[in-house]
Amino acid sequence: MTKILAITNQKGGVGKTTTSVNLAASLANAGKRVLLIDLDPQANATMGSGTNKQVIQQTIYQVLLGELPIKSVRISELQGKYDLIPANRDLAGAEVEMVTLSQREIRLKAALVEIIEEYQYIIIDCPPALNLLTLNALCAAHAVMIPMQCEYYALEGLSDLVNTIKKVRANFNPRLRIEGLLRTMFDPRNILAQQVSDQLQRHFGDKVYRTVIPRNVRLAEAPGFGLPVLYHDRQSKGAQAYLELAQEVLKA
Ligand code: ATP
Ligand code: MG
Repeated sequence: MTKILAITNQKGGVGKTTTSVNLAASLANAGKRVLLIDLDPQANATMGSGTNKQVIQQTIYQVLLGELPIKSVRISELQGKYDLIPANRDLAGAEVEMVTLSQREIRLKAALVEIIEEYQYIIIDCPPALNLLTLNALCAAHAVMIPMQCEYYALEGLSDLVNTIKKVRANFNPRLRIEGLLRTMFDPRNILAQQVSDQLQRHFGDKVYRTVIPRNVRLAEAPGFGLPVLYHDRQSKGAQAYLELAQEVLKA
């Protein structure tokens, strides 16, 4: 069985891409066959996996528009030991161009049929918006992982996201569930972060992952080398946290 996980939060800069890349690498490190899909025109997951978005021409964009089969854009033999469906700037146009196409919400889901059996985990890195790209991720996914920073406005955005997930469940994808909320960039010395974290646990209970991702400079450096943190500094707190998260995901 393949598990498709959408890493999503419409709030920007909360650690979606860092989580996508490092969870993909950590699951691959555990011996799983993993595919990472970059569904963000910023293409940070593509760059962070060691693929230059300026150079590649064939991406998820053509796949969503039905111009290329997904297999033909796939990149393998990355250092992170997972396969990648890359993105580049073109993807920003897909938002508009897909609107007139039939079944525009399930184009990613349909494209994945061809390769789904090859993987145990498919991780989708979403853009910071509740747009048609994110909707495609939510329609293709079995479950959602929500990375969030423990700050005041985090909770406000969360209710919009939970409502969107409810709507997707009602209209397109009845099996979709929230797999978990992930606390990212966590600084235990910050009292507000502690309070928001407590509030999250009270409200969402065991939907909150036990693993907490600390603020760690190695995590921020690694994309500059085009590497998951595991291959940049395996002993770092950031690398160890994502290995622990992978263990939690494997047990789910
Ligand atoms: P966007 O919404 O723009 O796609 P995002 O949610 O994908 O952003 P990231 O790109 O993963 O967020 O992270 C935002 C910034 O914070 C990046 O510069 C990243 O390197 C840094 N960062 C992410 N997680 C951590 C962490 N745990 N410790 C330190 N820096 C981090
Ligand atoms: Mg991102």
